[in-house]
Amino acid sequence: MFAILSEILKKNHIDSFAPLPLRDCKVIKPYLLEREGIADGTVFIMAVPYYTHACDAPDRNLSAYAVSRDYHLFFQILYATVLSQLRTAFPNAKFVAFTDHSPIDEIHAAASAGLGVIGKNGLILTPKYGSYVFLGEIVTDAIIPCEIGEIKTCEGCMACKRVCPANIVKSDCLSALTQKKGTLSLEEQEKILHLGSVWGCDLCQAACPHNQRALREGTIYSPIPFFTEQVLPHLTSEALNAMTEAEFTSRAYSWRGKQTIARNLGLMEKGEPTC
Ligand code: SF4
Ligand code: SF4
Repeated sequence: MFAILSEILKKNHIDSFAPLPLRDCKVIKPYLLEREGIADGTVFIMAVPYYTHACDAPDRNLSAYAVSRDYHLFFQILYATVLSQLRTAFPNAKFVAFTDHSPIDEIHAAASAGLGVIGKNGLILTPKYGSYVFLGEIVTDAIIPCEIGEIKTCEGCMACKRVCPANIVKSDCLSALTQKKGTLSLEEQEKILHLGSVWGCDLCQAACPHNQRALREGTIYSPIPFFTEQVLPHLTSEALNAMTEAEFTSRAYSWRGKQTIARNLGLMEKGEPTC
């Protein structure tokens, strides 16, 4: 089964994946497995790279993950193909796939499977793509021989913490602030202006030596056409207004509605807070 899945994933330009026993994962949303009738089995965890050359644009004003189309669309397309092929090849096994809204702790699973180390910034740091990866997983009730490795953490240089305007207090993360709906206080507007990003924040990732090395060595770039096509590193109000509904909903920043990203763009283009 792993050989067949490897072949399918490699055809889709995914080269960072590994199996691990479901019983060794931290199950955080058991109902997602219960409703599929899966109590035991195997998890195939994958790290999907998304950083592209467009992310190097000096005027980029979006988090790197929002430069390409929404990764949920990518996983939707990928899983439709992969699950259909797996179900045809193994008709007696159950398969289900997740990303984000997952039954398991994805970072813990990725580290257990040896895809990378856990950074102080809470992200998985892969050797090839750094932390610029989306995690996804296919869960099956089939049990295949595999082992977990020791979970490793980064060297703890704390560059991510030093650079973070919120001191890595996740409740105050500026990425979340850019996604907050409604009217922002003066202080919140100032923070976004200072950050210079209309969606998300990459400061802790950019400061990490694992990412800097991957960038320097050129391994960081995603080979996946979904992420390299239709890139938009610098968003403006004009470009936003020119988008069709379909174009807008294909972007990661659409999930908070047009008003939220339009408000941030208006703030950035004005260059000062609105009372
Ligand atoms: S994304 Fe930005 S604000 Fe959030 S933890 Fe990282 S550096 Fe801090
Ligand atoms: S910047 Fe340093 S402490 Fe932070 S995740 Fe990277 S290696 Fe770890």
